[in-house]
Amino acid sequence: YRFARRQQAGEKIRVSFEFFPPKSDDMALKLWETVERLAPLRPSFVSVTYGAGGSTRERTAHTVLRILNATDLTPAAHLTCVDATREEVDAVIRDFAAMGVKRFVALRGDPSEGVGAAYRPHPHGYSNGAELVAALSRHGDFDISVSAYPEKHPESPDFATDIEMLKRKVDNGATRAITQFFFDNDVYERYVERVRRAGIYVPIVPGILPVHNFTQVVRFAGRCGAHVPSWLAERFYGLENDPVTHQLVSAAVAAEQVLDLIERGVEDFHFYTMNRADLAFAICHMIGIRPAAEPETAAKAA
Ligand code: FAD
Repeated sequence: YRFARRQQAGEKIRVSFEFFPPKSDDMALKLWETVERLAPLRPSFVSVTYGAGGSTRERTAHTVLRILNATDLTPAAHLTCVDATREEVDAVIRDFAAMGVKRFVALRGDPSEGVGAAYRPHPHGYSNGAELVAALSRHGDFDISVSAYPEKHPESPDFATDIEMLKRKVDNGATRAITQFFFDNDVYERYVERVRRAGIYVPIVPGILPVHNFTQVVRFAGRCGAHVPSWLAERFYGLENDPVTHQLVSAAVAAEQVLDLIERGVEDFHFYTMNRADLAFAICHMIGIRPAAEPETAAKAA
């Protein structure tokens, strides 16, 4: 009821979508179908993740360039510090800026050996997210998003250390934090209270992960320190071989989470789409975000 009232009052919910750069022609086709489907929802921006290693980095640049050239969307390029000197990272920043990129998601990144290995900064590189934000700020007037961890980053000894890092990132020029995915909205709300008490006032945008495959999400959550509540496991229990019901349950779970966050005052959402449009589109529909009437706001070309 409160949500309906807010809609009547013209309060707008804003969304952004995250994609990963495709590794094959088939995956590219799927990504561009997804982009075309989601573009008419007029997201504030769409972000493209960044991996360690040369070829992955080129794929990010290629995907960002195509978004710039072929759609009306505003891309945000993710960037990490992994295995790169400061000069190399600075060159990537300049390349993106020359393409016309004005938004970045600045991250330290994970060790190239994989999540779980100890992170060793490159001896001549930026050693964490805060240093990368400072580098971006030196290069231009960019819109810089950073990560935030409602359940704290697995490497942080405690919340105070974790939030101190967020504060350094904001002090260096970040204007928004996007959270790791979470499923318990109380956890998010408690985290935002802690962040505000630490004197950080940028938007803490919840990162929503629609559950395309519960088994995979459990595995992934274990690696990045996100808790999967038992009530969520219960909802997906027995659906391993029933994709249709799994999909319906996923849509219901994500819609419930997002609607509850709106009730709590959240106005911006970032969706980890996994390059799939269906669940993100359905959730957006539920919260009143509908395709623009004008066809020209859709992707211009695939
Ligand atoms: P930072 O903000 O630098 O640090 C994260 C936390 O770790 C800090 O709170 C700090 O307290 C703690 N910490 C860091 N170093 C130490 C230390 N030496 N000792 C003790 N504590 C320490 N990864 C990619 O590879 N590519 C992507 O495109 C990408 N996109 C992401 C987008 C979002 C929205 C999020 C939330 C994560 C993303 N990641 C991505 C994952 C991210 O790279 C990892 O979570 C990584 O482990 C931390 O990067 P960060 O920028 O959060 O690190």
